[in-house]
Amino acid sequence: MKLKVCGMKYNPGEVAALQPDYLGFIFWEKSPRSFDGEIPKLPPGIKKVGVFVNASLDEVVAKIKEYHLQAVQLHGSESPEFCKELKQYNFQEPIQIIKVFSIKDDFNFDELKPYESVCDYYLFDTKGKLPGGNGYTFDWKVLKGYPSIKPYFLSGGIGLEEIESLREFMKRPEAKYCHTIDVNSRFELEPGLKNIQKLKEFKKGLMKDEINMPSSLGERPVRGPYHANEKGYYGEFGGAFIPEMLYPNTEELRQNYVRIMEEPSFKQEFDQLLKDYVGRPTPLYFADRLSEKYGAKIYLKREDLCHTGAHKVNNTIGQILMAKKLGKNRIIAETGAGQHGVATATVCALMGIECVVYMGKIDIARQAPNVARMKMLGAEVRPALSGSRTLKDATNEAIRDWINNPVDTHYIIGSVVGPHPYPDMVARFQSVISEEIKWQLKEKEGRENPDYVVACVGGGSNAAGAYYHYLDNGDVGIIAVEAAGKGIDSGESAATSALGKVGIIHGSKTLLMQTQDGQITEPYSISAGLDYPGVGPMHAHLFRSGRGEFISITDDEAMTAGLEVAKLEGIIPAIETSHAFAIFDHKKFKKDDIVVINLSGRGDKDLDTYIDYFGL
Ligand SMILES: *Cc1c(COP(=O)(O)O)cnc(C)c1O
Repeated sequence: MKLKVCGMKYNPGEVAALQPDYLGFIFWEKSPRSFDGEIPKLPPGIKKVGVFVNASLDEVVAKIKEYHLQAVQLHGSESPEFCKELKQYNFQEPIQIIKVFSIKDDFNFDELKPYESVCDYYLFDTKGKLPGGNGYTFDWKVLKGYPSIKPYFLSGGIGLEEIESLREFMKRPEAKYCHTIDVNSRFELEPGLKNIQKLKEFKKGLMKDEINMPSSLGERPVRGPYHANEKGYYGEFGGAFIPEMLYPNTEELRQNYVRIMEEPSFKQEFDQLLKDYVGRPTPLYFADRLSEKYGAKIYLKREDLCHTGAHKVNNTIGQILMAKKLGKNRIIAETGAGQHGVATATVCALMGIECVVYMGKIDIARQAPNVARMKMLGAEVRPALSGSRTLKDATNEAIRDWINNPVDTHYIIGSVVGPHPYPDMVARFQSVISEEIKWQLKEKEGRENPDYVVACVGGGSNAAGAYYHYLDNGDVGIIAVEAAGKGIDSGESAATSALGKVGIIHGSKTLLMQTQDGQITEPYSISAGLDYPGVGPMHAHLFRSGRGEFISITDDEAMTAGLEVAKLEGIIPAIETSHAFAIFDHKKFKKDDIVVINLSGRGDKDLDTYIDYFGL
């Protein structure tokens, strides 16, 4: 939760030392806190907000320039056109617009509609005699009807006494988009002179439990030892080992991805599409019969209910928006079994962007339905004819294409693999999974941390998403499930943690299966999505550091577990996911343990394999 302290006048420097996220300066003469002094140099990371009441555009622009404001808060009856004009004004840095709405007992949320596309945040204040500074709160229950996904500031008479009720409020669904708490008059010795001690206490109380805070993309405070560092390293793994010719492409992405993800307009579009197009949030379902059978509280995170039937679309939605922000008008991707190709072709159709998917000739023959899907979605499927004519050859072709088309093309990688910044970027897009698990579990169990979170690992994107917000929390056990194929020692396996050695694959230093002289071994699993000779660098690090527990599951165990879930819960999982359901013979849980299994995808695509295997 972010903090804004408004009404700076006499001691902004002292307030700034507390490191709030925003400082508000009121430029309205009638206010006792009206500001006309000089703003002292502020520590980095604090945004200066100018507060205006029906000022003219010229006035606002002049103040923005004079004080180098990063945001404006419009407290009067400024029209959507006014906001738009301001938004489009050519400042050196884009200016964030916070539009204020005052609430008494009730609020007609239709009033927000004309402002949806022209401001970055809303601010809800108490309706009183004055525009702001009235010293009493409004009934936050009104926000139950909040129809938007635009992040908002909560304001109006909030003081130290409200800490407890704020904490309660934060747990409620309507607080999901509450971005910042805005305080002012209740922390003053006199108008414009802030009580530093009180503010300090408030900030501490506010930050105590960062619960239920869908801290938005890229701004997440969690950057502990299990996240990528600046150079894209997870411990000793990761980085960007790429040919020089590819450097400009990845460098452009690296320099921009966090900044773009942090833009409110990006987050808003991403959230909106996840909601309306993908169907998020996906349910967190308590699997009663499975729990009964295995003696633990088992919850299933239903990524199988995402549009296109798996978690992959979370990432392709994020990357297509990223591509658009970078001004790209052509997308390439590689695919093995075709799942990532379909997820990519889907979002390209959605956005009307040209799409080329590289796929090994052999895979094209093996995965006819997915090839047909991609074609229906308007993508061109280009066969890779070299080498073993499977995934790695398709990847080579895609990289070749990207080198030849560095300006107009974005390469959408489908998992937490590849050179920096891909693993981190994809993990951030998929982190919506654990973001949701946290508040959903809080609702159901009264706590946001499960005892274990379990996911299957191919490249590792669904797992990275399910673990993300728990990575640095040692109370949550992380279980990664790999495909042992016909057995770890059979020579036909994809159990990277057990069989892999340090090496470089697709531009990333990680664990991978290789021969004595470093040639990549052909992996095998009955599930196409786990049939990858490496794992993403995050997972290599989780394994090496001991933070994650890795379990290998054979084809037979996975198939049996998949059938069991179908019979016990009425859910047919993808065979990838079935691996995660097979852990119960390898790992015992306590009766009260809360175990969340990420149900990465649905089994429709695998029906033929199930039919052949069980002779159905
Ligand atoms: C692709 C896929 C996987 C494996 O990919 P990760 O990047 O490891 O998540 C797992 N489950 C399903 C359903 C898939 O489609």
